[in-house]
Order: sequence, then C-alpha cells, then structure tokens
Amino acid sequence: MTISQLMDQQKRYYQTGSTRGLAFRLTQLKKLKQAIVERESEIIQALRTDLNKGEKEAYAFEIGIVYQEIAHVIKHLKRWMKPKKVKSPMTHSGSRSYIIPEPLGAALIIAPWNYPFMLAFDPLIGAIAAGNTVVLKPSELAPAVSAVMTSIVRATFEPQYIAVVEGGVEESRALLEQPFDKIFFTGSVAVGKIVMEAAAKHLTRVTLELGGKSPCIVHHDAHIKLAAQRIAFGKFSNAGQTCVAPDYLLVHRNVKDKLLAYLQEAIKSFYGDNPLLSPEYGKIISRRHYERLRHFLNDGKVAIGGLADDQTLQIEPTVLENIKWDMPVMQEEIFGPILPVLTYDNLDEVVGLIQARPKPLALYVFSEDKKVQDVMLEQISFGGGCVNDTLMHFGSTHLPVGGVGESGMGSYHGEMSFHIFSHMKSILKQTTRFDIPFRYPSSQIGLKIIRRLTKL
Ligand code: NAD
Repeated sequence: MTISQLMDQQKRYYQTGSTRGLAFRLTQLKKLKQAIVERESEIIQALRTDLNKGEKEAYAFEIGIVYQEIAHVIKHLKRWMKPKKVKSPMTHSGSRSYIIPEPLGAALIIAPWNYPFMLAFDPLIGAIAAGNTVVLKPSELAPAVSAVMTSIVRATFEPQYIAVVEGGVEESRALLEQPFDKIFFTGSVAVGKIVMEAAAKHLTRVTLELGGKSPCIVHHDAHIKLAAQRIAFGKFSNAGQTCVAPDYLLVHRNVKDKLLAYLQEAIKSFYGDNPLLSPEYGKIISRRHYERLRHFLNDGKVAIGGLADDQTLQIEPTVLENIKWDMPVMQEEIFGPILPVLTYDNLDEVVGLIQARPKPLALYVFSEDKKVQDVMLEQISFGGGCVNDTLMHFGSTHLPVGGVGESGMGSYHGEMSFHIFSHMKSILKQTTRFDIPFRYPSSQIGLKIIRRLTKL
C-alpha cells in the first residue's frame, strides 16, 4: 500500500465515526497495554540492542512511563470527553454555552531514537484517547525498537486505524506531504522547522517537541551532595541522550570543587570504577553522533572521565572544566554524556547569560533559598524543569511537557495530550422560547443596551 492509499484509508475509516466513542477508545488503550505487557521482554531487549539500556532504565524511563500514562488516561477520559458547560455573557441572554472536544482526524506521529519506545507510544496514547486514527513513524536510528513497535501495532490494530511506517528521511518526507489533521513531532530543532514548513501547506496543526541547551544552576547554598547525585542521574542516564538532560552546569564559584568531588563520587556509585564496563551504562546511538561528541572532549580540561571506546561507541560520564562560551561544546545541544561546567559569581549574570540564548527546553536550579528559586522561575523563560532535581517533571502525568520558542511548540502528557489531539468545538444553544431584539439593526435602543451590557 502506498502512503497516500494508507492516508485515504485512514480518512475513510475516521469518517465512519468508529473511533469516536468512549468505549472504543478505552478498549484500544487496554489492548495496547495488554500488547505491551506481553512483549515487555522484547522491548527491553531491543532497547539494550539499540542503546545498551539497562533493564531498570528501560523500564523506569520507557515502559513504566507508558503504563502510567495509559492508566491515567483510562481513569480520566470519560470526564475529559464530556462537553463542558461554560457561562454565557449578558449580551447572550437565553442561551447556554458548551465546549465539545472532538477528534482532529488523522494524526501523524514522528518519533526520535533516544527514548524510541516511550516517545512514540506516549503521544500515541494521547491520539487514541482523543479519537484519532494514527500513522506512527519511528526513528530509523533505533531499528530494533522500531521493529518491536511495528510488530506490536500490526498485531493489535487494523492499519486503517493505527499504522506504522518504518524508515528514515525519505519516508518521513513522503508522510509530511500528506494532508494529515495533526502532526506530532519529537526531534531536533532543524527537522522541526522542516515539519512546520510541510504542515503549513495543508494548515495542519503541529506539536513540536524539540531540544536545545538546558542549563542547570547550582547555587552556593544548595545541598551539594544531593545536587551532584541528581545531576549525574539526569545527565548520564541513557548516556546523556535525553532531550531534557542538563546540557551544561552553571555553578557558583565557591562550591565548584565540592560539586565536582561529589559528582565523581555519584558517577562511581552509579556505574562503578569503569563505567564503560557497566551493564547499566548506555552507548551512543550511531558512529556519527559518537564522532561529533568525541570532538567536544578537546574543549576545556577533562575533570572527570574522558575515555571513549571506538568499538562499543561509548564515552565515559565526563565533566569538563575551564569552559568558555565560544567553545564548540557550548554552540549546540550536546546530547551525550559530556557535562561542561561554567562558574558564576552572581545570579544576575546567570539570568543574563541564559536570556541571551534561545529559550531552553528545561532548566534546573539547585538552591535552598526560595528567593533564588523564584528569580530563576520568574525571570527566565523555558519549557519546564525542576527545583532541586533533574528530569523528574517529565515523568509526571500531571505536568504538561513541552518547549517554548526554539525548544518547541505545544505540550503533552495526561490531559494536555488529549487536548492537543482534539479540537475544542464551541457551541451556543439559543432558546426559542423568547427573543431579545436589541441586537437587530431595527432596534432603536439596541446600541445603548449593548454599550451598557458590555461594560458590566
Ligand atoms: P531528528 O530531528 O534527527 O529526527 C527525528 C525524526 O525525524 C526521526 O523519525 C527522523 O527519521 C525524522 N527526520 C530526520 N530528518 C528528517 C528530515 N530531513 N525530514 C523529515 N523527517 C526527518 O532528531 P533525533 O536525532 O531523532 O532526536 C534528537 C533530538 O530530538 C534532540 O534535539 C533532542 O533534544 C530532541 N528531542 C526532544 C524531545 C522532547 O520531548 N522535546 C524528546 C526527545 C528528543
């Protein structure tokens, strides 16, 4: 079947109305969950093959998040789907107003390789919940996970409802030519722009989950040992290939040495003396990315780690000091296990430095002082983040996740996923028991009444 035939088939199926009912949506979500439960060990194995993810990481960061999302949606979907009654203004006397969520239609989900399972299935859950048909395009750079997901989807759903198109740039471009009703894209800023341009041709709605350089600030009053552990967790999980990983550290000059000592301790406690031999430590997805990252090791001075293995495509958890803003490592999203450290003396400096750059996807601040926390949260625009932690906001079904400015457009998870795959249709139901004529051109006192009512 060609891509345009698949599109036609899905559009026709959508028009039958089959995907709209609550019972149908709940059944599909339960079927999806059951299929994942049955294939869990294959998914874990595939994540090991593509990214050398350990079982705990594979479960906690990928499978567990998807289960949690399905459970949350099943629990709340009935309420989200209900038409919401809202007030009507005085000028609209006699009427009742409602917002009715309706599915957008045929959705396209384009996924990246770094959390190849979770970042494909999490938006899929939202699209099903909202009553859409879906074409899912996994990343070609995680082929083992792509194969398992394809097999799960094909065994569970009819292609007229949910289909997978495997492949890379060519397939992705062919899909982007189709008149989808919604495109949900997770990936790089550069490709995000291509997606948005393609979507503009059909005026298709887009959600863009992109990336960027996410700062992590450690103030002098922070709980330094805990900060080091949580930063090491956020930076070196999945070998740093996490969209919301702390990209670089801004540390108050007085606590830099202490933080580095604790970072070294944390890395050792997570991955042992030789992280490259640890079954819990990931690999870089491709040789191209590995070579790109290795060049960053020439910047500044290696304070921790620094070893790389050309065969396994692994790079040790690495911390770089003596870093300058004009070095290559500070010019692009690192997306690997390399953590540059910069120091600061005062918070104004920090705010100015971050504000001068594209709005980050995430920001993390470690400080015991609410005033310091508030400065960061109020003065800097970023997608989302944590105070005294890293990454954890991403795993909450109650927090919408998304970027702002260059780091993305729109957010998802939980109810927000339902929203972005739905259209909120506004309906006003007017009474026929009486009519208030002041709106008509013939009304002599109409303007006077409207003037008064609109100022109430
Ligand atoms: P990518 O942009 O290279 O690829 C993403 C998807 O787009 C893949 O499915 C790929 O096949 C497709 N694609 C690639 N080039 C294309 C083109 N020219 N035209 C059409 N489609 C194309 O991104 P990636 O390398 O898979 O992922 C890394 C990036 O994703 C990082 O920037 C990271 O920060 C970001 N990311 C963001 C989030 C988030 O939630 N905001 C999550 C994970 C990753």
